[in-house]
Amino acid sequence: MDPETILKEVAEKTAICTRCPLHHSRKNAVPGAGNPNSSIMFIGEGPGFHENEQGQPFVGAAGKFLDELLADADLSREEVFITNVVKCRPPSNRDPQVEELEACRPYLERQIAAINPDVIVTLGRFSMGSFINNGKISSIHGKAFWSNNRMIVPMYHPAAALHQPSLREVIKQDFLKLPELYRKAQGQRRNNPDLSITEPEELSEASVEEHDPEQLSLF
Ligand code: URA
Repeated sequence: MDPETILKEVAEKTAICTRCPLHHSRKNAVPGAGNPNSSIMFIGEGPGFHENEQGQPFVGAAGKFLDELLADADLSREEVFITNVVKCRPPSNRDPQVEELEACRPYLERQIAAINPDVIVTLGRFSMGSFINNGKISSIHGKAFWSNNRMIVPMYHPAAALHQPSLREVIKQDFLKLPELYRKAQGQRRNNPDLSITEPEELSEASVEEHDPEQLSLF
């Protein structure tokens, strides 16, 4: 299956998903948006009020700032893929809970396998925590890590900079590093072509309903 079809399938499944309690207050699931063939993926935390209304990621104030940051890095929404670790809005924008993150993880894994990006930029600590264990955002923001043959770049969440103006310049400087990190990641993966091939498996109903996190990470 091509990436576009797989992403469409994930979108259809998240729209009717009942794997965690977040579906109770869902108006629209927010599976993600952008280029299915992108080499760079941005992963935020979860939909907020406006995202839940519109079904699109980062369309509120944080999204406006994200657009500015992308432009600084010479990127646009059309060329990247943007999603979140949870696809439904946590009530009152509270933090996503462990069970919710685990329930939604298969969708994210399926998206990553389909897009097969060279670089994953995590936005905020919940997204970072999905790829890097025990990372401290204040010490590792803007640095590159490797996980499963992909470059992971943890960034502060754009909303954090809206609440804490001193972070604005920090996150801007981190985004400015992206073009060079991105080139490095592409070079590195070109030198290890075998490692960069991932075969997305079928997203079967059975595996979506599976609740064992070990199993969930398999598909
Ligand atoms: N914050 C996020 O983490 N994701 C969105 O989609 C919007 C705001």
